[in-house]
Amino acid sequence: MPRIALRRHRRTKIIATLGPASSSPEMIERLFRAGADVFRLNLSHGTAEEHAARLAAIRSVEAKLGRPIGVLADVQGPKLRIGRFGAGRVTLAPGQRFVLDLSPTPGDARRVQLPHPEIIAAARPGTTLLLDDGKIRLRVLHARPESHLETEVITGGPLSDRKGVNVPDVVLPIPALTAKDRADLEVILPLGIEYLGLSFVQRPEDVAQARELAAGRAQIMVKIEKPQAVADLEAILQLADCAMVARGDLGVELPAEEVPLVQKRLVRTARALGRPVVVATQMLESMISAPAPTRAEASDVATAVFDGADAVMLSAETAAGQYPLEAVDIMSRIIARVEGDADWRAATAAARPPPEPSSADAIAAAARQVAETIGAEAICAFTQTGSTVLRVARQRPSCPILGLSTSLATARRLACVWGVHPLVVDPIHSMSEMVRRASRAALDEGFARQGQEIVVVAGVPFGQPGTTNSLRVARLR
Ligand code: PGA
Ligand code: MN
Repeated sequence: MPRIALRRHRRTKIIATLGPASSSPEMIERLFRAGADVFRLNLSHGTAEEHAARLAAIRSVEAKLGRPIGVLADVQGPKLRIGRFGAGRVTLAPGQRFVLDLSPTPGDARRVQLPHPEIIAAARPGTTLLLDDGKIRLRVLHARPESHLETEVITGGPLSDRKGVNVPDVVLPIPALTAKDRADLEVILPLGIEYLGLSFVQRPEDVAQARELAAGRAQIMVKIEKPQAVADLEAILQLADCAMVARGDLGVELPAEEVPLVQKRLVRTARALGRPVVVATQMLESMISAPAPTRAEASDVATAVFDGADAVMLSAETAAGQYPLEAVDIMSRIIARVEGDADWRAATAAARPPPEPSSADAIAAAARQVAETIGAEAICAFTQTGSTVLRVARQRPSCPILGLSTSLATARRLACVWGVHPLVVDPIHSMSEMVRRASRAALDEGFARQGQEIVVVAGVPFGQPGTTNSLRVARLR
């Protein structure tokens, strides 16, 4: 199969969620060509078998185009929901009493089931419960830990079957992986994915548990969508491989005015630690049903790029919207336009974290400096596990990064990393071979022409992780 050099003319990556609007191999190929670098399988919707079929479609596109594609399997996590109503829906009035209990009897305007005994046990008088993405607000008046909560309706409105419940004030005594998540992952993990999206992370232990379950088969992407996770951000990021600013649920659990600041803090902290970070949810929301975004949405994508996120994400826009290709295309164009601006370059340079005291980080920092001083076309970094390339990307160099790995799994994982064009290569055994291979890759993939220079980074002895120690400048011949 002839390889097609599909180089992106931007650094910030795009994650596109697949769903009913985007499941055929043809559509997935068109989304990839339009600019999607990573695809998200949202396990909150559909069956594990449907997702397995989408995954197979992604892999067939990957094989056809010869470009590594990253896959994020995003588990539902402990999303809390109320039970059903006799009439399907009720209307709650502010000031009235409303009871949440464990009885499966269909609810009415005075009570409904909350089938989560842990929540009923953990709530206290004064605890806030948010229903239906925060549209309804209840405050607990009396708590009977073994049976029910009596609440006062603070903000009323219509409420229907199975709506979501958020409890922002309480660290819930529940693990981040539910029985459903474990069953879904039992199907999906053996098929080969790159990142496991861990929803509603609350504590560092949640990350440790997910890592144990993944057993090296996927990187852990923590979704920061609980105030408890924001409060313990550093410890959680330390244990994770990458992170998502999950603004959908975060915006329910925190006041709207907090979300932009949490986004900035999270991106900054993740970048300092060298953890790839994704900004997600409602980025081009109006494009679910319109062919062009609002001005505010265009600005939101631009802000995430200015913040220095590794990737921005599309959710319903590509999964269920009417204009999935247009959404990817406009997102790609907004990113490229911002990255062409001198202000963005200045902001990126100003936010650069200092290198950590390791030879890998020192070499990565030097590679950026050398590349920028001589105007090199690309930094070609050989990597086993991906860590050398992450170190280079953390420096946010002004030229593209070619991430060269003998491992397809590593190349796929680099698909969500800022500025990286991942590529699978044969093993190398000598310095001269390293330079030859890097030069060929830069030429073939369209990053440089004869006579131009590249910077090459690798670890010697070759093929051993954790040895990043060499830097070469090469002129292409
Ligand atoms: P979700 O996560 O789409 O799985 O809810 C993202 C978010 O909450 O922003
Ligand atoms: Mn969420």
